[in-house]
Amino acid sequence: MSNPKPFGPIPPEFAGLDALPWLDVATPAYVYDFAVTRARVARLRAALPERVAVHYAIKANPFPPLLAAIAPLVDGLDVASAGEMARALDVMTADAISFAGPGKRDEELDAAVRAGVTINLESIAEGQRALAIGKALGVRPRLAVRVNPDFELRGSGMKMGGRASPFGIESAHVPVLVERILGEGAEWRGLHIFAGSQSLDTDAIIATQAATIDLAARLAEACGAPPPLVNLGGGFGIPYFPGDAPVDVEAIGAALGEALAALPGVLSGSAFAIELGRWLVGEAGVYLARVVDRKVSQSETFLVVDGGLNHHLAATGNFGTVVRRNYPVALAHRMQDAAEEVVSVVGPLCTPLDRLADRVALPQAQVGDLIAIFASGAYGATASPSAFLGHPPAEEFLIE
Ligand SMILES: *Cc1c(COP(=O)(O)O)cnc(C)c1O
Repeated sequence: MSNPKPFGPIPPEFAGLDALPWLDVATPAYVYDFAVTRARVARLRAALPERVAVHYAIKANPFPPLLAAIAPLVDGLDVASAGEMARALDVMTADAISFAGPGKRDEELDAAVRAGVTINLESIAEGQRALAIGKALGVRPRLAVRVNPDFELRGSGMKMGGRASPFGIESAHVPVLVERILGEGAEWRGLHIFAGSQSLDTDAIIATQAATIDLAARLAEACGAPPPLVNLGGGFGIPYFPGDAPVDVEAIGAALGEALAALPGVLSGSAFAIELGRWLVGEAGVYLARVVDRKVSQSETFLVVDGGLNHHLAATGNFGTVVRRNYPVALAHRMQDAAEEVVSVVGPLCTPLDRLADRVALPQAQVGDLIAIFASGAYGATASPSAFLGHPPAEEFLIE
């Protein structure tokens, strides 16, 4: 076997299995094993101070059965469109839902105000529109202010702070907006400060949370009004690639406990929350595709499977990564068997971008066998161009 490329670590819940239990699944498919998510929530709850609420950011995975299952386990849902808001309202009361995201249209603001969902304002102008809509409806809008922090989460795959940004409001402008919210008699719900995503650097997460609390305190002083809630963001990453190691949530929880014990007085009455997407659901998901063809081209063996980039853009390296690396992968019925050949797993699309695994060493696969791509529970089905080339979408299954 010549020069196989490494792939990422298979999540612990699956790594020891001889075979996945879903060998007969109709493919292509995503299977979400909810026991994994349940365990993540329990671990997080045990690690975090009781005062810190846990929100689920549903853009990571808005599959309705998964939302119904996770809603009772978390304290809130964070949404980023009216479509996500409608799904969230099916499973959660409005007062535990917050709606962030730039460019909210008037119809979206209207729907949020009517429903009683908290709007995380992304600009002064959006704040003005939300206040006007509340007035027109005769409804007191619930408004929080999203801050563009003057720092970013180190080591994060998607930085959302420390620079010019479509997200949030510059610190210097926050007091003006809060004053307007209070002056117009709207319900001020607090501050939302999100500095980045997919960080595996525990120390960076701890430092960012400390800086976030600091910033919230400074803003509270400047506004002359303590925020009812401080949403500290999240950004906990999961291992996708060779060498990736999980974040230490117990260390994060302990540090957060210390920070909250030493809170500046202006935040002593505030509630706190973190919002996580992929950390809660990413490792629960497995993308499954079946081998349709085996072919050899110039001594490279290709396994052509029945789905690819159209369902799982991220695993092909085309969603937020600079260098293409291999997601964790296995031959689903021979998980512990020794590797026998080096293969590239490609999807059925007519583009060289459609490569799920590049030159990985696996036991020999035949036509009809199932290939599993792990760490696929977040930013999979809904973050992929499913209409591209007109193949059927992947089915999704929740295993409770
Ligand atoms: C995308 C997003 C999240 C979730 O990020 P994950 O990396 O999935 O945890 C949380 N908050 C905001 C504001 C987001 O935009």
